[in-house]
Amino acid sequence: MYQPLSVVDPEVADAISRETRRQHETLELIASENFVSEAVLEAAGSVLTNKYAEGYPGRRYYGGCEFVDRVESLTQERAKKLFGAEHVNAQPHSGTQANIAVYMAVCKPGDTILGMSLAHGGHLTHGHPLNFSGKMFHVESYGVSPETERIDYGEMARLAEQHKPRLIVCGASAYPRTIDFPRIGEIARSVGAVSMADIAHIAGLIAAGLHPSPFPHMDFVTTTTHKTLRGPRAGLIMCKEAFAKDLDRAVFPGTQGGPLAHIIAAKAVCLKQALHPDFAQYQRQIVENARTLASTLLSEGLRLVSGGTDNHLMLVDVFSRGVTGKEAEQALEKANITVNKNAIPFDKNPPMVASGIRVGTPAVTSRDMKEPEMELIGRFIGRVLQAPADADTHREVRQSVLDLTRRFPLYAGRRAAAV
Ligand code: PLP
Repeated sequence: MYQPLSVVDPEVADAISRETRRQHETLELIASENFVSEAVLEAAGSVLTNKYAEGYPGRRYYGGCEFVDRVESLTQERAKKLFGAEHVNAQPHSGTQANIAVYMAVCKPGDTILGMSLAHGGHLTHGHPLNFSGKMFHVESYGVSPETERIDYGEMARLAEQHKPRLIVCGASAYPRTIDFPRIGEIARSVGAVSMADIAHIAGLIAAGLHPSPFPHMDFVTTTTHKTLRGPRAGLIMCKEAFAKDLDRAVFPGTQGGPLAHIIAAKAVCLKQALHPDFAQYQRQIVENARTLASTLLSEGLRLVSGGTDNHLMLVDVFSRGVTGKEAEQALEKANITVNKNAIPFDKNPPMVASGIRVGTPAVTSRDMKEPEMELIGRFIGRVLQAPADADTHREVRQSVLDLTRRFPLYAGRRAAAV
């Protein structure tokens, strides 16, 4: 029982060690990823994983919950303070679980949901036909305007008026512009719909006041905690007090069993760190870095969807250069730069090929990289995309990336394990 992982399971230990090294030696530009603090890692790896605690603090179905009650209550209090929420459910295991719970709290199977199309930047859980959301509900989708590539609020209002949805969902996975929560709240109220903002990507920016808050305009706000918020891989739900009971029932016993106490503890730690003034400075740097990276990519002759960014990410239309998103992702990976291929609005390529890549700055900003490094990274990307099939280019850029990542060590004090 009490033996180290490397002895109990050398295969898993080896995979973790190699992944550690990969994280040290690559430039992580996937917009939905980040590097958590050592304190978050410690809480996530704690003995709280041993505890069952179905129910809520003070109302559990198991004994021995004194300390996990304290942890969950701290998480709720901190989330309320950070986001100005009336009620918090800290138990969702993920962003998807958070969205499932809100839909179950508000809708019956077959009800109409109005969400942003995945093809225009929305998330699978906002009504994609292959997702539970598209299978269980009648879905209508809005998107961006072809001229501005920004959300078409006029279309959203028209669709809401025509279909009278039970729930209007906003928020996105690949949208580089500010979302107009007051306007969406107004559209929802005008047709008697409940409103939900999924702030998974921009939660950190909202916490720091760099993106307008969805409160008090939205009835429900869901988020992941592992993107700009820089916490463990998990979800959170916030809502107006009037919906609190229905929401809590929809999470447990509605759609989840025992909460992950160790992950809730890691959420508490992440929220404590997000309440510290240093976190707002970190978020400002994410946005400044995204602006600098966007202007460097533009100066490299690349087209950005909507012409730029207001937040932590940008969508690069690589197909305007004759390179598919898939080719770009693979070529950049050979140069130790990690991005994901991504559909752009009105894409002519299928999703597994795609015409774009999504590029974000939260993770490199956690390594303390700033504007000069963003200019370098923009030039690396420009160079690889000029010769995506050229092995010499991959090798030369990879060497420059290794020089850069060495200057900005990850988890200082913890060595990349030798493999
Ligand atoms: N909502 C949005 C807007 C997202 O971008 C994501 C993840 O990419 C999710 C929900 C789902 O989160 P998870 O992967 O934790 O289920």
